[in-house]
Amino acid sequence: MTVIAIDGPAGSGKGTLAKAISEKLGYLNIDTGATYRCLALASIRNNLTINDTKELVDLAKKIDIKLTRDGKVFLDNEDVTKLIRSKEVTAIVSQISSAKEIREVMVDIQRKCSMNDSVVIEGRDITTVVFPDATYKFYLDASLEERANRRFQENKQKNIDMTYDEIYENIKMRDYNDMHKEVGSLMRTDDQIYIDSTNMTIEEVINMVLNIVRNDDK
Ligand code: C5P
Repeated sequence: MTVIAIDGPAGSGKGTLAKAISEKLGYLNIDTGATYRCLALASIRNNLTINDTKELVDLAKKIDIKLTRDGKVFLDNEDVTKLIRSKEVTAIVSQISSAKEIREVMVDIQRKCSMNDSVVIEGRDITTVVFPDATYKFYLDASLEERANRRFQENKQKNIDMTYDEIYENIKMRDYNDMHKEVGSLMRTDDQIYIDSTNMTIEEVINMVLNIVRNDDK
């Protein structure tokens, strides 16, 4: 079983990279951000706020999250692939994922999704908490401006209505939150392979990662 773990900030291209290499290698792709987004969506529907930690933990234990091989996300059997990318969910997901007790439940769900399969799994704490013994550990980075620009272009294609400035501010706020969590914060470590993709095309990043993984297999 091979585990390719990728961490990095919002908009760094982790999602696109993970999707491409999982398809090339025939591995399962797990987007852990999607699991936190499902919980954030469920919290809105249940009128819970970030202060309702106990209720959020109960909710996290109760909801059923499924990530399919073709990239769809199901929350209690409802296809929420698009809904979890909405402005409302994006605005609160970073805070919702901050409490230690909530993260423990979610990490459990993420490990269960990955059981018995070779996986490409991406998020913020994959290389440090979810799979500290992963076969490969990557940290994918890019400048804030470049990441906001990428997300802006991506949202336009998906018809998600957010201005460049809204995205820039949201990513900046999430960077801060994600790097200052009590548990599972986004961090760089010595055993990660660091890739700054600011001036790289996504194809260059994909090829770089595939070369590392494939050359090792020889
Ligand atoms: O990756 P994505 O931007 O969809 O993640 C949404 C949010 O979920 C992040 O801003 C982060 O706060 C949280 N997250 C996390 N740990 C992960 C993945 C995502 O805290 N492993």
